[in-house]
Amino acid sequence: MKHFFAPTSVAVVGASARAGKIGHDIIRNLQTSGFAGAIYPINPKSPEILGLKAYPSVLDADGEIDLAVIVVPAVAVLPVMEECAQKRIDSVIIITAGFKESGPEGIELEKELARIAKRGGIRVVGPNCLGIIATGSGLNASFAPVFPKAGSLALMSQSGALATAILDWSVQNGIGYSKFVSFGNGVDVGVVDLLRAWEDDPETRVIVAYMEGLPNGPEFMRVAKEVSQKKPVIVVKSGNTQAGARAVSSHTGSLAGSGEAYTAAFKQCGVIRAHSVEELFDLAVAFAYQEIPRSRRVAILTNAGGPGIMATDAVETAGLELAPIGADTVAKLRTKLPPASNFHNPVDCLGDAGADRYNFTAETVLADPNVDAALAVLTPQTSTQPYETAEGLAAAAAKYQKPMLACFMGGGAMTGAIDLLGGHRIPNYPYPERAVQALATMVRYREWREEPEDPIERFEADIEAVKAIFRSARAEGRVNLGEIEAREVVQAYGVHMPKSRVAQNAEEAARFADEIGYPVVMKIVSPDILHKSDLGGVRVGIRGRQEAMDAFELMMLRIRRYAPNADLRGVSVQEMVQTGREVILGSTRDPQFGPLVMFGLGGIYVEVLKDVSFRVAPFGRRHARMMIDEIRSAPLLRGARGERPCDLDAIVASLLTLSQLVTDFPEIVEMDVNPLKVGEPGQGAVAVDARITITEQSQ
Ligand code: ADP
Ligand code: MG
Repeated sequence: MKHFFAPTSVAVVGASARAGKIGHDIIRNLQTSGFAGAIYPINPKSPEILGLKAYPSVLDADGEIDLAVIVVPAVAVLPVMEECAQKRIDSVIIITAGFKESGPEGIELEKELARIAKRGGIRVVGPNCLGIIATGSGLNASFAPVFPKAGSLALMSQSGALATAILDWSVQNGIGYSKFVSFGNGVDVGVVDLLRAWEDDPETRVIVAYMEGLPNGPEFMRVAKEVSQKKPVIVVKSGNTQAGARAVSSHTGSLAGSGEAYTAAFKQCGVIRAHSVEELFDLAVAFAYQEIPRSRRVAILTNAGGPGIMATDAVETAGLELAPIGADTVAKLRTKLPPASNFHNPVDCLGDAGADRYNFTAETVLADPNVDAALAVLTPQTSTQPYETAEGLAAAAAKYQKPMLACFMGGGAMTGAIDLLGGHRIPNYPYPERAVQALATMVRYREWREEPEDPIERFEADIEAVKAIFRSARAEGRVNLGEIEAREVVQAYGVHMPKSRVAQNAEEAARFADEIGYPVVMKIVSPDILHKSDLGGVRVGIRGRQEAMDAFELMMLRIRRYAPNADLRGVSVQEMVQTGREVILGSTRDPQFGPLVMFGLGGIYVEVLKDVSFRVAPFGRRHARMMIDEIRSAPLLRGARGERPCDLDAIVASLLTLSQLVTDFPEIVEMDVNPLKVGEPGQGAVAVDARITITEQSQ
């Protein structure tokens, strides 16, 4: 993608001599941004544009063209592309709108565009985009009215409109970029290509992306994971993905909204998610300007009690640690600070501190080996000297080479000081919480990078058995597998199910119950009844022969009445699993990322509180464990307040099994294991109910 960022010559097809036209703005932008290469305006009607010789077509230009920027109307784009192919131009930016985003005709046009590009060996950015900026080569191949300064952020945006807003704001706030790409409809170049282009780009420290959707989730995950090992990738994802117009038939399906897959995928590949453009820049600037702290231990410096406490609270919520200030440091602080100061973290040198005192404090605290990062909070009080304080802080941070973030709170009184901090690459945040959030994100990123690989394990499984079960269901024209069939599937993958036999009459039911041993559970067996207990199709705690016979008759009677058309295949008599906590495991298929596995506590926790977690399958042991820890009710499983702890290893094993099953069988559309009954540590887990929905065709 070199020609997109460092071309030696650029043609602008649809260049215009008239101010206000995009084809005019781009030429002017190229001329004023410091681009040293040749510029070829292409326009059949003008011999000269903005002092440059113009050509009727790219084919008429005498020299080679590395990059063409196309701004002609949509109908004219394809012929221009053909000419570009003939001229052997390998990189094209199409600014023109009126493609995929504009309806059926546009969709066709864009498909044709893709074909021409492919045939001609042309890489395309756009259509329907703002263009590209590369500060290193002074290239402004966009119609953005501003040109940012050089810096270490590389930004990609699916939205051109947002890109203009971000650029404008960045220029005002002195945020520098290495590269800036608005890729619009992304007919060719998209998120993955840009990640690849920037992963080893020495000008780029931080990759920032605004995305609305992804054409290929698994590929994104693979590439993003590799790139995130080298530099932070921060993403704002907006808009809802197409959930698809299928009927959701499982708990898992109804709980997995469009956002869950992205959240899970980002976690699994180390991508840092920001929830707003504001947060995106809070984080990006911290990463761009500062080194990543070595540990979670942070010192808070302040001249004000309240904000110091706010920062302290934020540190705790964010999972950072207040660095313990060493005795030597405290002794040294005592020599200059008033006795009423706080010498421990948060270190408060009091409201009447001038720059001398504040900077002495900063210098002393930063020297402490326990301190790996600092947050400098300052409020404007009568003796405060913001500007001088900023100078001292910058010097101290440089001297000790420790990451520092600032929170100079206030308005006009602080502007000069904040600018000065920015000049020394110390990011400033208007509130302590935002600064702490940025710091915590940096620390978490380091920890993610240092984690060992989470290998995908494989367990023994009888794949053929599963295929056979799916085949026979389809042969009956069914895609829904109830408990009886689903149990065979999960058993083929090694999940334990209670002993169970299907009885056809009361006599048989009693005999099976005797064999299994009391108490037993009895459940209706019907491919038409998927929520058995809703119809009185489950009875637990049957303690004797007579009770089993009565239960059979009563259940049949009841179901015939409530579901007269259901195909009844008997009653399953089951071993009753008497102890254990009920959890739910499930899977659904996300249109972007594929199989998504869910975990939650059973019953009301799932239905009312929606307390569940997700991962994209396949995943390894660490992520399975994280799924458990992520739900709010996890303490109940670990054993809290008199509750006995659960066999977490058994849950992990079940999650990994499910991950493997849905990965092996893309034809599983949705499934629930609800509930899995989990015993105490060492006792294992048993699935007492399961259901699966498969696709109509095998895959
Ligand atoms: P459905 O979800 O179709 O209504 P289940 O098979 O999940 O039916 O049964 C409903 C509830 O009955 C379960 O959530 C569980 O609490 C209990 N249950 C079902 N089977 C057993 C069993 N074998 N041992 C213990 N409890 C069971
Ligand atoms: Mg159930």
